[in-house]
This record gives sequence, C-alpha cells and structure tokens, in this order.
Amino acid sequence: MDRNTSAEGKKSDLLDVYYFRNLVKNRFFKPAVNFILFVFLSIIIYFGLTSEPDLRFAGGNPFATTMIWDLWHPLLAFTVILFGRLWCFACPIGAAGDWAQSVFSLNKKYPEKYRNLWIAVILFLLIFAAERHLFMFTRNPVSTAYLLLFFTLLAVVMGIIFEKRSFCRYICPIGLVLGIFSMLSAVELRCKSRKTCHDHDIKECIVGTEAGKPCPVDEFPQTMERNNTCIMCMECVKSCSKDNIRISPRIPGADIIHSNKKYLPEAYLVHGMIVIFLFVMGMERFEFRNTIIDFVRSTLPIDSITFLQLYWRNMWAIIIFTLITLGAAGLLYVSIKAVFSGTNTKNTFIELSYAFIPLSLSVYLAENTFRLLKGIFFIFTETGEMFGKVWEFAIDFETINQLQLVFLTLGFLFTLLAGVLISKRRSHNRKEVLQGIIAVDFTAIVYLIIGFKILTLPII
Ligand code: SF4
Ligand code: SF4
Repeated sequence: MDRNTSAEGKKSDLLDVYYFRNLVKNRFFKPAVNFILFVFLSIIIYFGLTSEPDLRFAGGNPFATTMIWDLWHPLLAFTVILFGRLWCFACPIGAAGDWAQSVFSLNKKYPEKYRNLWIAVILFLLIFAAERHLFMFTRNPVSTAYLLLFFTLLAVVMGIIFEKRSFCRYICPIGLVLGIFSMLSAVELRCKSRKTCHDHDIKECIVGTEAGKPCPVDEFPQTMERNNTCIMCMECVKSCSKDNIRISPRIPGADIIHSNKKYLPEAYLVHGMIVIFLFVMGMERFEFRNTIIDFVRSTLPIDSITFLQLYWRNMWAIIIFTLITLGAAGLLYVSIKAVFSGTNTKNTFIELSYAFIPLSLSVYLAENTFRLLKGIFFIFTETGEMFGKVWEFAIDFETINQLQLVFLTLGFLFTLLAGVLISKRRSHNRKEVLQGIIAVDFTAIVYLIIGFKILTLPII
C-alpha cells in the first residue's frame, strides 16, 4: 500500500469549508475571475505601451513595470509555498487561450517529441538573460507590455492550433517555475479514494461532462502524485459526479520526497535558478558588477555602436547564464560521479537535484524581497496621493540584505534535510544513503559559500 492509499480517508478537505466547493463548481466563478484579471492585464499593457521606455525621462510611467515585476512576480514567489499553482486558476493569459479555443480550434495533438519542458526552460533563461541588457523588462514599461502581448498571443495561437492547454503544459516559463516550487506547497489537489476512481466506469475527469471539461493538462486524479502539472482549473471538481476530489493541507515539500516523477529539464532548472538569481543579486553589488562589466567591455569588437553593444552584452548574458547553469548542474553531477560507484549517474543526478528546490526557492525569494517591498511602497504612496497625503517609505537595504542571508541559510538547511530524506527513500543500503547525503551536502555547501560571498558584498 503506497503513502497516498494508506492516508486515504483521513485527509481534511478545504473544498468542504463553507461553500467553497459550490463556489468553484459555479460555472460563472472562474470565467468571472479570468475576465476581471484580463481587463487588468489589458490596462497594464495599455499603460506600458503608452509610456516612455526609459523611466528616467518625462512621460515614463512605472505602472506596468511595478505591477508586473514589483508586485505580481514577487507575490507569486511568496505565495507558491502556500497555494501552489493557484495563480494558474486565475491566469488571464491561459484563459485567453481557452476563449480562443472555444471559438475555433484545429484541436491537433501537441507533437510527441516536444512533450517535455525544455522549451519552457529555454524561454525562462532567455527572458532573464534579455532582461539584463536587450529589453530591460523590469525597467522598461514598453518591453514589459510587449512581453505580455507576446505570451497572450502565443497562448491564443496555441489554443487555436492544439487541443487542451498545451501552452500552460509545455511552454509557459512561469507555469514551469510555479510547478517546480508547488512541490513544496502546503496544499495538494488529489482524489479522495483511488478505489473510487478505479471502480468508476466512466472517468468523467478524463472525458469531461456537461458540468466540467476534460482535464486540460492530461492529469488523472487516481494516479496524481505531485502538484507540478495541475493548473488547479477545478474542472475535475466540477465533472466528478462522485465528489471524489479533495484539496488538502499537507506537510510542505511532500512531493519532492515522495514523488517518483522526476525529469531532467526540471532538475537542470532547479540548479539554474539558484545560480542565476545569485548572479542577478551579485549585479546589484558594485564590486561584482564592475568585474563582469569590465570583462564584457573588453570583448567588444566595436566600441561606438550602441545597438551592437546591447546585442553583444545580451549575447554574453545568455552565454553566462547557460554556462553557470551547466556549471552548477555539473557540480552535483561530478560530486555524484566521485562518491557513487556503479550507479546510473544521470538518474541519481535527476533524483538528488530535487533536494535543491528549497534552496532554489529561498534564492528566488531573496531576489524578489526588494522588488516586493518596492511594489508595496508604490501602492501606499499612490494611495496616499489619491487622498492628498504623503505616505512615503524608505527601503532599508541593510535589513533586506540580512533577510536575504536568512532566506539563503533556511533554504540551505531544508536542502540538507531533503537530501537526507530523498537519499533514504531511494535506497535502503546505508552506504548509498550516505553517498547521496555527501553529494547533496557538498554541492549545497558550495552554493552557500558562493551565496554568502555575493550577499555580503556592499550593495551599490
Ligand atoms: S471522475 Fe472522479 S471518481 Fe471518476 S476517475 Fe475521475 S476523479 Fe475518480
Ligand atoms: S482538471 Fe483537475 S487535475 Fe486537471 S488541471 Fe484541472 S484541477 Fe488539475
């Protein structure tokens, strides 16, 4: 009997709280949430497109950049631990794809050979590389608006060509990151009883009913064992006539220990996020930043053409991000090769990489702490202005820096714990357990030293 089966019948169900089940089953609730957010998205795009690209000049309007990079993105990072991929329920971009699909779709199957997460991983790396110089999304309202338009159009086009939510399942970089971090989340959507699913002659969650659509990401509640793919659309809650779906609180991080589904693109990105966000925080520090800029300048073939310089720097950002990601993933790979003998290094690398998800989230949070405070202070200041008051707050870099170090240390400690639990789960052989722990601990200590080195440099 596996963990899920043995625990059946004992789980509390948030859907039973007051009228929550009725609310999510209501056919107007989700479209209403999606529509309201779509209107808000359109307003953000409008303000982005009508602003001056450079916020330092007159006509520069920070509304779009603040809403997306200082509020929405940090809030996702800080809430994923509680709610997992709940954002995907509300997402207006995924909804736009759905709406287009309901009007017309070729309903083609998404090509088998692309049914993996590599495109989403590459898009994630490209967006953060292009952020540094080429598009400067976080500081450029026009670029931000075009980025939002690009993903909305992509979701629409994919909805028209392919069946279900191929965009959310295989392309969206935010979905990918939320999926990985939702393995840590404190809630899970699962079936109440696997036996009920097994005995149900019509799998309504798969085929759909009048009440709810077939699962748009091809999940099957009976066999679900991790949060990553489920976009919490609640269609299975609507379609299952047995009321066999539950949303339950649980111990955060359960999926990274217990799930058997582990994949190379996710493992690779877990390491990528740690080093990329450490690098980005390094660029906020004078010493680190100057070393990198001087190096990139020294490689410039022509000194005077600004446009070429931007592409050149961006090319370097892509190269650096790719190399440090490969280097970080390679560090664990080499550690495994050094301590294990006669094991499948690739599989062991994939399995043990999931121990680094807490560290990855902690660095992600550290990078977003400043932005979130900036966004919240912006809201306070603007609200104060509406009421003729002056509500201004100064951001204390010292405090933020200490918070970043606390996040890093907590992430490190949880990664060590996850390393022990994953190693114990994957082998009953004491020697192999110890080898797994050594490989994880060694790599985590290297990350911690690099993190402390960068985060204790003076901020610009
Ligand atoms: S419709 Fe409900 S009971 Fe039937 S297989 Fe799906 S989740 Fe299980
Ligand atoms: S139908 Fe159910 S399992 Fe599928 S994505 Fe929606 S909420 Fe998740």
